[in-house]
Amino acid sequence: MSALLPPPTRPRIAIAGIHIESSTFSPQLAVAEDFEITRGDELFSRYSWIDETWSQAIEWLPIFHARALPGGVLERETYETWKSEILEGLRALGKLDGFFFDIHGAMSVVGLDDAEGDLITGIRSVIGTEPLVGTSMDLHGNVSHELFEGCDLLTCYRMAPHEDALESRRRAMRTLALRTLSGLGKPAKVLVHIPILLPGEMTSTRIETAKRLYARIPQLEAQPGVIDAAFWIGFAWADQPRCKAAVVLTGDDADVIERLAMSWAKEIWEARDEFEFVAPVDTMSGCLEWARTAHRPTLISDTGDNPGAGGANDTTCALGELLDFEPVMSGDLTAIVASLHDAESVRAAIDAGTGAVADFVVGGKIDRRDPGPLPITARVQHIGTDPLGGSTAVLKVLRDGHDTGLTVIVTERRKQYSDLESFTRLELDPTATDIVVVKIGYLEPDLYELQRDWKMALTPGGVDQDLIRLGHMKIDRPMVPFDENVDSVQLRVITG
Ligand SMILES: [Zn+2]
Repeated sequence: MSALLPPPTRPRIAIAGIHIESSTFSPQLAVAEDFEITRGDELFSRYSWIDETWSQAIEWLPIFHARALPGGVLERETYETWKSEILEGLRALGKLDGFFFDIHGAMSVVGLDDAEGDLITGIRSVIGTEPLVGTSMDLHGNVSHELFEGCDLLTCYRMAPHEDALESRRRAMRTLALRTLSGLGKPAKVLVHIPILLPGEMTSTRIETAKRLYARIPQLEAQPGVIDAAFWIGFAWADQPRCKAAVVLTGDDADVIERLAMSWAKEIWEARDEFEFVAPVDTMSGCLEWARTAHRPTLISDTGDNPGAGGANDTTCALGELLDFEPVMSGDLTAIVASLHDAESVRAAIDAGTGAVADFVVGGKIDRRDPGPLPITARVQHIGTDPLGGSTAVLKVLRDGHDTGLTVIVTERRKQYSDLESFTRLELDPTATDIVVVKIGYLEPDLYELQRDWKMALTPGGVDQDLIRLGHMKIDRPMVPFDENVDSVQLRVITG
């Protein structure tokens, strides 16, 4: 596909979207304050390539974008307000040539099982069926029938961790722009759903099996007649019929893309039993037993409550186990719990003052899963602030009036301790600590370099890696890994 000369009037493409990944198993709700909102030309800061030649041939018309860190289900009223703003913005623009839907793809809204499907259906009701619609998504998003129906060009990230997030967004906008400029009209598209639902920690593209399956993309896109090939892992921590893996191919040769999509989907389906965790896994108590003799620093991912995936950031399973772990409580080993979202304990620490000893009841206030809020006696070791976590207190746990080896970080807002600077800002040195427990899944580069031994604890929480114990009710069945007898599953091509 090549760009023709821009016509005298540039094609008009509007932009809007809401970007959040919501766990429906997390008791917290996402609210407007959790989002960074951009309107009008402010949106161009998301598209650093806007001055590239292909992009200048388009009149981009940004309306509204809201973006939050992964969290809970979005309040209905907030969603409806934003949806209305987007639809009114589109109405005011009049006739459009295209629309760019800038989303994550795993947003949940109270009372809706397919939020992005609802939003694009609303958008189509305003712009009509004619304009070309392109979307760029996270590979942990879901492709429902409504979303597939509403979009003409769908693509997603190809790397997890998502090092190609910007590149993917650029690719999606460029494809949309070039297609619009070409005057060729809508391409053909095919969707194949694959009944697999896997946690992100089993599908890192840095290792097999996902690595091999994503490596197919350049070969697929090299075939004549193919515009884009995309593979969604899907989002495991929502209980909705749309949650499953998906393959979408777009192109100008309907037969070719159908054949390629089906063979790729079959290859993914055949690999369903090959996905493995990116690191050794164990229960939290198993991880601590192992940590007695592991290399230092020993890192333990408290995966079930990972705020980076939507966890509430305040479950106390890991802390509870540490409070019973004699090597740390006796002070022979040192450990940091990073962290608990607990504004109440932060306030109590500030009231007590640095150096003061006080009783606290920490964690378990939002996600009350066992063991729930835990009483500790602690010295306020440090009070600080963090750009994301807000006011933050470092609590040194005491037992019978003596220091233990245990330090607990409590924060005013949700905050993931994924980099070294977050610790050093609080005058903590994880490199000199025996055991560092972080609410995270796979490790970000800083932590990966810092650890000498690493395990992932399969802790309970809103983003439990043990999917089966979450109790999904509304997903399609059969589904891997929920069902054993899946041999009769037939993959089906949906065309559009
Ligand atoms: Zn993702």
